[in-house]
Amino acid sequence: MDAIVIGAGPNGLTAAATLARHGWEVLVLEAKQRPGGAVYSEPLTLPGYLHDVGAAFFPFADDSPAFRFLDLSGAGLQLANAHWESCHPAPDGSSASIARDIEESVHSFGVDGPAWRHLAEWRQAMGSRFVEFLLAPLPAIGPAWRLGLRHLLRLGPLSLLSSGGLARRLFQTEAARRVIPGVALHADLGPDDFAGAGIGLVLALLAAGSGYRVPLGGARAITQALLRRLEEAGGKLRLNARVSRILVRQRRVVAVRTEQGEEIAVRRAVLADVGPPTLFLQMLEERATTWWLRTQIRRFRYAWGTFKMDWALSGPVPWLSQEAREAAVIHAGDSLADLAAFTRQVRAGQLPDNPYLVIGQQSLIDPGRAPPGGHTLWAYTHVPSTIEGGWQRHREAFADRIERRLEGLAPGFRQLIRGRFIAAPDDLEAMDENLVGGDIGGGSAQFHQQLIFRPAFPYFRYRTPVQGLYLASASTHPGPGVHGACGFNAAHAALSDQKS
Ligand SMILES: Cc1cc2nc3c(=O)[nH]c(=O)nc-3n(C[C@H](O)[C@H](O)[C@H](O)COP(=O)(O)OP(=O)(O)OC[C@H]3O[C@@H](n4cnc5c(N)ncnc54)[C@H](O)[C@@H]3O)c2cc1C
Repeated sequence: MDAIVIGAGPNGLTAAATLARHGWEVLVLEAKQRPGGAVYSEPLTLPGYLHDVGAAFFPFADDSPAFRFLDLSGAGLQLANAHWESCHPAPDGSSASIARDIEESVHSFGVDGPAWRHLAEWRQAMGSRFVEFLLAPLPAIGPAWRLGLRHLLRLGPLSLLSSGGLARRLFQTEAARRVIPGVALHADLGPDDFAGAGIGLVLALLAAGSGYRVPLGGARAITQALLRRLEEAGGKLRLNARVSRILVRQRRVVAVRTEQGEEIAVRRAVLADVGPPTLFLQMLEERATTWWLRTQIRRFRYAWGTFKMDWALSGPVPWLSQEAREAAVIHAGDSLADLAAFTRQVRAGQLPDNPYLVIGQQSLIDPGRAPPGGHTLWAYTHVPSTIEGGWQRHREAFADRIERRLEGLAPGFRQLIRGRFIAAPDDLEAMDENLVGGDIGGGSAQFHQQLIFRPAFPYFRYRTPVQGLYLASASTHPGPGVHGACGFNAAHAALSDQKS
């Protein structure tokens, strides 16, 4: 075997398919009984309803260099958009929404329309060079050069602001002001956090670009397309094969050992789609790493937990906001003050009173996900990873609280519920051990864990102290999101090390 990839998440599969396309003999070892990690779909509620178990919207799918290289649409992946990409309603009936069409968004932003036009035209001017720059391995000199100094000088300083600070600087109305902080909270970035604007701005600009796209047939269609590319190139996947140890001889990786005790030798490389503490503190013997790295990895922080719900509905959600009725994603967060209060409560280890929500309406775009007339709904909020008394005790009551919030934005919602599925932080981690404590981002997105600090300086370029061993998960730059870039960049590091 030339390469072993540990973990069949989107980064692992991208790494494996990339190496296989370069003629390497590749084996992927996946702990669970299905591939995909957080990118899969299952009938979680009732027969006939198909739900995404994790990731659901794919703004990187078109422009990701990894997915372009693998030509996922040629492998059968079909993506579609809703009319509105992201809607930000409040119970008072106000809303601001992002569409791919600039003029429609300008209209939705009302008096803040001209400010939004400025941003959206900027996004248009950057084109796909924007995503190429974001996803490139650091120091990304070539992609930065191609993007251009003018855009970099604008992006850099804005990214260092807090998301609330940027929102206040750009917009006047509360509806418009909740947009960027609302998307920044996909990660553990509250409205007052230093450099929280970076991720908020990127996610808002992605919505205005190719949009929050949805794969026909469920998120698993992405995993299936990646698998197809892997298998066509001769790569193999083995399920129910959890790797527990990586074997090193003379500072070079030589084999992996599965939990069942099987040792599989490797000639060139092992790429690990796992978390940094798992790789450096559990899978490797202490003497294979350095004191410096182990110390930093012990300080590696996972983000908040996530509480996710899926519903089988008998009809479309009766949102007060007309735009929400045609939106792929809806963000519930009434105001900057509401989002700040939510952040404070989660950080204090409390269950939020008024949970911020990221809500997905996949079946609006892909009607095949529900029986005729029916709809699916997907939502998550952030919560403390652990809670006094345990999640088992709190999950149903907290799920009711989420439904009450939805009812406030869409009176009549609860009458449509035919079934619901709850995934508390411990359920998410049981599904995919990379989602430690229910963190969906592979580690905190705070500034001290971004860029050259992800997962630890100076190991931000996928390489490790062990020759032939690479970290390929979302815990490396550019971090979470389904773009395959962590795996793709790690595979290129392995390929280039073989040449030298
Ligand atoms: C609820 C939720 C919602 C999300 N929403 C979005 C979204 O809408 N859009 C978006 O772009 N992103 C979203 N994300 C984030 C996105 O899913 C992740 O960033 C992405 O899946 C990371 O890919 P990965 O390959 O690094 O890891 P994962 O997808 O976590 O896959 C890791 C794989 O490795 C396997 N593994 C771990 N340890 C071992 C071991 N020892 N041996 C063998 N196998 C092992 C796991 O079983 C798993 O299959 C969401 C995530 C979640 C959970």
